[in-house]
Amino acid sequence: MCNKRKMLIVDDLELDRDVLKELFENEFDIIEAINGQECIELVKQYGDQLSIILLDIHMPVASGLDVLTYRNNDPVFGNIPVIVITVNDDTKTQMQTFQLGATDYITKPFMPEIIKYRIHNVLSTRRVEEVVREKENFRVKAELDLMTGIYNKVTTQHLITNMLADNHTLCAMLVVDIDDFKWVNDVQGHLAGDRIICTIANLLSAHFRKTDVVGRIGGDEFLVFMLDLPSADLARKKASNFSKVLKYTPETSSPANVSVSIGMAISEKRPYTYEELFKQADEALYNAKRNGKGQYAEYGVEKPQKDFDRESFASLLLSKDREVRGAIDMITENARLLTIFSPEESAYFKEEFMGKIYLLYIDISTESGNECALIDQILQIDWLQGIPFIAICKEGDIQQYSSAIQRGAADILPAPIDTVFAKRRVAEFCHIEK
Ligand code: GH3
Ligand code: MG
Repeated sequence: MCNKRKMLIVDDLELDRDVLKELFENEFDIIEAINGQECIELVKQYGDQLSIILLDIHMPVASGLDVLTYRNNDPVFGNIPVIVITVNDDTKTQMQTFQLGATDYITKPFMPEIIKYRIHNVLSTRRVEEVVREKENFRVKAELDLMTGIYNKVTTQHLITNMLADNHTLCAMLVVDIDDFKWVNDVQGHLAGDRIICTIANLLSAHFRKTDVVGRIGGDEFLVFMLDLPSADLARKKASNFSKVLKYTPETSSPANVSVSIGMAISEKRPYTYEELFKQADEALYNAKRNGKGQYAEYGVEKPQKDFDRESFASLLLSKDREVRGAIDMITENARLLTIFSPEESAYFKEEFMGKIYLLYIDISTESGNECALIDQILQIDWLQGIPFIAICKEGDIQQYSSAIQRGAADILPAPIDTVFAKRRVAEFCHIEK
């Protein structure tokens, strides 16, 4: 019984209620009210469990018109169809009930079959509306990436395919991938990782035009499609500026140091398909990663490597650990690396290297509880002040990570050092202004 839809019959005359009750009791669970006041109370009690309300107009305490007026200010009630059934058939009352939002108006005496049809029609129209609404909700959910709110992979691909088919203007596709995101997850946790994905999605949406397509096509991978470009240089500028946006955004700048690599393909000479452009942009992304990350690469364009005068500049490593010294030596390759065991030893290099040290490595991985003192000692040495430093911390030692970050570490390398990973992380410090 309780699975039946609920119908509320509101009429002060018992006889009239009984007629309607008999007509519908097989189909509906019938609830009765003898005036408008009771009707409002029952609506408050049952809310959207009520499928339909049959409402008389002339009743004591509160009339049908009072009920309709109340209904206009109650969103739950407003969603329940109300059919007015009354002996009063003057046009003015009819108009008034419709103006107040009644779904239908039936005059007594009524033909039982006719009233049944009218009620079924009201309910089936309502059902269609519900299905359309459900579908619309589903469509929005299916088109968007639930975590970030931007387009998902399927929609991104679909939109770009259609745009490319309809348009032959200059356009650019950018594949954007977060650098070392596994490390972000490992060090800061998965939730922080999720937040960074959302931040990047928001930043991309804000950085490009509303008419460009911005979608998330994989875990830490996004796609941007720019249509109707006035020049290819605009796409290059936008791609290159996005790295700066990350540097100036608190959630992605230091100490998180989140960077992205961008692979770009420009359809300059002829129309392309989605697949062709994606393949080119993806290949360019691979080059951006290979060249050191944190940068954009364009398909078919060899980027001149920024060369950095390794003869004149050096990095300085403070470490007592043999393995750390070996690993840093390996990632520094043929550039100059000065190695010391204690802060005091830096004095040996002052005369020759003052103004020529571009990066400090401070190894606190073997210091337990003394890490802050070691960092402070180095940072107080006059000729080393202002030089960015990378802290080498014991892997997973949150205390060490946070001491280093609080003292302004430009980056952190976990020890034991993964040299491939470390090499990528320090690459950006080699691009210095002489
Ligand atoms: P690379 O610089 O070469 O891109 O290295 P990477 O560490 O970013 O590696 P890759 O892009 O291959 O891997 C992406 C990682 O992103 C894998 C997975 O751990 C993480 N990831 C994927 N989806 C999600 C997500 O929804 N939330 C979070 N927090 N992490 C995700
Ligand atoms: Mg990645």
